[in-house]
Amino acid sequence: MIDLRSDTVTRPSKKMLEAMMAARVGDDVLGDDPTVNALEEKAAEMFGMEAALFCPSGTMTNQIAINVRTRPGDEVICHRFSHVYYYEGGGMMRNSGVSVCLLDGPRGLITAREVEDHINPASDPHRPLTSLVEVENTMNKGGGACYDFGELERISAVCRKQGLKFHLDGARLFNALATAGGTPAQYGSIVDSVSICLSKGLGAPVGSLLIGDKSFIKQGRRVRKAFGGGMRQAGYLAAAGIYALDHNITRLAEDHTRARYLGEILKSMPYVEMVYPVETNIVIFKLGARWSAREFLDRLKENDIHALSLDPRGIRFVTHLDFTEEMMEQVEQVLKSLA
Ligand SMILES: *Cc1c(COP(=O)(O)O)cnc(C)c1O
Repeated sequence: MIDLRSDTVTRPSKKMLEAMMAARVGDDVLGDDPTVNALEEKAAEMFGMEAALFCPSGTMTNQIAINVRTRPGDEVICHRFSHVYYYEGGGMMRNSGVSVCLLDGPRGLITAREVEDHINPASDPHRPLTSLVEVENTMNKGGGACYDFGELERISAVCRKQGLKFHLDGARLFNALATAGGTPAQYGSIVDSVSICLSKGLGAPVGSLLIGDKSFIKQGRRVRKAFGGGMRQAGYLAAAGIYALDHNITRLAEDHTRARYLGEILKSMPYVEMVYPVETNIVIFKLGARWSAREFLDRLKENDIHALSLDPRGIRFVTHLDFTEEMMEQVEQVLKSLA
């Protein structure tokens, strides 16, 4: 089976499993799992920040960041299609009782100008108090779009000037770095917190990290406990994360090459109406009148290829480290045969 549904479908490699099995572990809720501590230190250092917190999912790292940075009734500025709003089960409203101000930029990206225009004046008690700005890089529902670093610097400057906190959902930040350049530390220097996922393009089975300053992470640790995310001998999972950070970052460029190639093939298929620009490992395209998304997914499935539909006409392919060159050739053949 060829699985293009998401980059979360990867299985740990033999070497990753060996690293996991060899991990030294302790009880992380008591703070003495040496492998979790090593992963947290490594991530903090990469981003030039003080501390990090290992969590079961990227939803949890985002939700913890929102919970620490807001009080009930506060407002969070984010894009309408941001993962924190659109794909986390209503978590921010449910867990933190916050209000949202949803922005509408193209491909899921927001600008400093729009952020500035939507901050409620703290002096006006009628309006919810704006306390947090959230951006996503790469932007999942925006087809893996990347921010221009300069725009993020400008958003950061607006946040500092207005006393707001700035959270980066970097579930696929390493994909953004592979395309747009830059280092994790550059991003660490302009935000108050970052969340990264080890279980997406980096190939770990489980795990995300929340990174920020010491006092923020200390508060986050309490929230993680309250959300039920404290894990005990989590070093087995953290070992996979360390392996992923050491071995699976530079190869992301291969996923991007394959995604771009898929995009090129799709562009010339008569049943495809349009393909969104392919910047990273996500390919989103719209079908013409011939098939609905459901029918097209069935055609693919008959050929052992699995993908996801985003809406009645939209299909998403995501490339990843278990999607090989041979599979790529097979997909190319199938796509062409369907024409
Ligand atoms: C996948 C993802 C997350 C976290 O998802 P989990 O499945 O909870 O780990 C967060 N943000 C974005 C943009 C994502 O794509």
